[in-house]
Amino acid sequence: MNLHEYQAKALLAKYGVPVPKGGVILAANDIHRVVGEVGGPVWVVKAQIHAGGRGKGGGVKIAKTAADAEKAAQDILGMTLVTHQTGPTGKEVHRVYVEQGANIARELYFAVLLDRATSRVTLMGSTEGGMDIEEVAASTPEKIVRVSIDPVTGMQPFHARKMAFALGLKASELKTGVPLMLAAYKAYMDIDASLLEINPLAVTKEGNVVALDSKIVIDDNALFRQSAIAAMRDETEENHAELRAQRASINYVKLDGDIGCLVNGAGLAMATMDLIKSSGGEPANFLDVGGGAPKERVVEAFNIILEDPNVKGILVNIFAGINRCDIIAEGVVAATKEVQMKVPLVVRLEGTNVEEGRRILADSKLAIIAADGLADAAEKIVSATRSAV
Ligand code: ADP
Ligand code: MG
Repeated sequence: MNLHEYQAKALLAKYGVPVPKGGVILAANDIHRVVGEVGGPVWVVKAQIHAGGRGKGGGVKIAKTAADAEKAAQDILGMTLVTHQTGPTGKEVHRVYVEQGANIARELYFAVLLDRATSRVTLMGSTEGGMDIEEVAASTPEKIVRVSIDPVTGMQPFHARKMAFALGLKASELKTGVPLMLAAYKAYMDIDASLLEINPLAVTKEGNVVALDSKIVIDDNALFRQSAIAAMRDETEENHAELRAQRASINYVKLDGDIGCLVNGAGLAMATMDLIKSSGGEPANFLDVGGGAPKERVVEAFNIILEDPNVKGILVNIFAGINRCDIIAEGVVAATKEVQMKVPLVVRLEGTNVEEGRRILADSKLAIIAADGLADAAEKIVSATRSAV
């Protein structure tokens, strides 16, 4: 789950990370009050969307008077912001953050993240802050510093000093820089984050180190014990179908192809997508209905797949171990009737109660194409989709 910058900063502040004073605007009639409360002499007005690159896209404006700050907030609230991370359609801005402007001397990059290669929480830093860290990693990888944290000791002050020296912090700047990094690590661990990024981590002309931007991603698997953070979820920022799937305990990821897949098991779902591709087709989604899926979940899975207007055919691939073929077949039949399926449907069933499952499909008299085995299923859906198009 992603947090907005203003939510991330509020959390960081709670742990003692210095952030500029700020306030969030949720509606136009908050603007005057929030700009006044934040106070100047310089205001920075920032679009709150779950995407970076807002500065370059016109979503971050600096204002030198309260009137200009109000005008900037008015302009940004409701605008459609296009950045390199939003895709060409952009994202509509529903929330605006206003904060005090800092006197920036240098912009650094600092993050706490999980390094999957070492299975350790790792600090990542660079003197090349403010810009796209992916670009720095690609063109000048030597400018990225990593400090790996041993899970037995946790982060110690020496880890922070190592990073601070690598970032070129001067002796006087270590006073705020070192506690800031330790606080960020504490926050990262406490809130079950998988990424905590501060970009830029700014050194001000006054010699303070402050977080001017922050991106936090929370591990979804930990949300059950992070109810305060789970409540910060902004559903308007999320893909509608993915959200709907999550509510139904379905693992769904939208892709760009035209063949919808309904599969049980993540591994089989991946293999199914590979088979579709090797038969010359393109999967429209990844979908794992999970084990022991009741009929209603199967119906919901069809609804989610068909919500995507690109879908021109559906392949159901079930190997029933925990699931039962008869229940899946009932779900397929119910869904086919309920959603008035207009696209070709290929079903491959194998495993527990397979005979019963096949009988249910055959008895339904619906236009369901039965398949024998994986390769046959993939070939049938690719050719059925092609002839339907
Ligand atoms: P994004 O990463 O989405 O472009 P940032 O919050 O990093 O958005 O803002 C972009 C740039 O705007 C920063 O690199 C920094 O130069 C400037 N900036 C952001 N917040 C402030 C602030 N409070 N004071 C001064 N400059 C700021
Ligand atoms: Mg940034």
